[in-house]
Amino acid sequence: MSLVERDLKVIWHPYTQMQTAQPPIPIVRGEGTCLFDEDGKKYIDAVSSWWVTIHGHSHPYIAKKVAEQLNKLEHAIFAGFTHEGAVQLAERLLKLLPANQQKAFYSDNGSTAVEVAIKMCLQYWHNNGGARTKILAFKNAYHGDTFGAMAVSGRSAFTAAFDQLLFEVEFIDTPDEGNLETLKAQITKLKSELACFIFEPLVQGAGGMLMYEAKHLDGLMAHCKKEGVLLIADEIFTGFGRTGKSFACYHVNEQPDIMCFSKGLTGGTMALGLTTCTQHIYNAFLSDDKMKTLFHGHSFTANPIACASALASMDLFVEPGTAANIQQIVERHVAFKNKIKDHPKIKAIRQTGTILAMDWETGGDTSYFNSLRDTLYQYFLDAGIIMRPLGNTIYILPPYCITDEELTYVYAKVEQALNEL
Ligand code: PMP
Repeated sequence: MSLVERDLKVIWHPYTQMQTAQPPIPIVRGEGTCLFDEDGKKYIDAVSSWWVTIHGHSHPYIAKKVAEQLNKLEHAIFAGFTHEGAVQLAERLLKLLPANQQKAFYSDNGSTAVEVAIKMCLQYWHNNGGARTKILAFKNAYHGDTFGAMAVSGRSAFTAAFDQLLFEVEFIDTPDEGNLETLKAQITKLKSELACFIFEPLVQGAGGMLMYEAKHLDGLMAHCKKEGVLLIADEIFTGFGRTGKSFACYHVNEQPDIMCFSKGLTGGTMALGLTTCTQHIYNAFLSDDKMKTLFHGHSFTANPIACASALASMDLFVEPGTAANIQQIVERHVAFKNKIKDHPKIKAIRQTGTILAMDWETGGDTSYFNSLRDTLYQYFLDAGIIMRPLGNTIYILPPYCITDEELTYVYAKVEQALNEL
């Protein structure tokens, strides 16, 4: 039996309607920007494998560091015990973050990093005897698939089956020139109830690569600070260079109270989640009263292999060559955007850092279920490019090691698709 046949017998794939989906493509190897299937066909991973792979696939340096770690310590319980990798990663990451970030809490993935952040905020108020229990979030937000993370995500097809069970969240529009003052007034009105505000800074990824301006986010953050609303920046997607700066929060002046990381944290090699917070939040959990403890922890918290890959990824991330590669992608994205922006098939095009997204004209609404999605997906696969359109929105966010030739090829195929489809 082929791998695909065996797969179809036993596997239930994520975000996949198993009845109608095409059979999966069996991948056997990764190198640089590319994945290779069983038949040796090469695919340029233009979406960094769900936005995680920042230095390229099977990076030899990360592989070496992970192998070394495997031979030393594969795992250790993280309550009551510690290890070098976890401490070093926290020390080094905190140095890269806004100065107010002082403590690191580990988990396994993006959704759990968000769950931890939400719990930190809600229990912060609980421990302080306060009555703030509501969470503020953006419409169209996406923060993960576990229940808490789903609850703070915009209500959508992803959440529809569970809507009645999700706790109530106050959703506001993303800010712009016209609505900022209204949003601020909304926050002020609710301030006595609002525990925290969670947001994806600058780019709402899964919501459709929707982008909004840093200066307006800054205004909203400053207002939340004034009203005592804690700020959670979900940098799971935007962190580690995606927006052109190391972290999206460096596009604004205000500093969040809590930050969430995953995806690029390990260079995409291992699953790892991390939630950082200020000393002030941490202090709210210090007590002789055991009930003030943050009762949260996963079996694989701070897994040493995951920490080793994160440390190796960070070594690569801080190399000057990486910033230069990021800058190169940014410049080429801008040039390509300007080249194609007036094409009649393009309804809207936008770019932040290494993320370039465009909505295709379909005559209808831009939506996750737009049937153009399957056509575009297959078109690019046939051309040896992995794109995963969000409905009629396609986006390019490659690993930073993408070569000039590879990026030129991806752009050329986008142009070809615009002219042919
Ligand atoms: N937050 C954001 C902004 C994300 O983009 C994602 C994943 N796409 C998550 C949280 C959830 O991360 P994970 O899939 O690792 O649970």
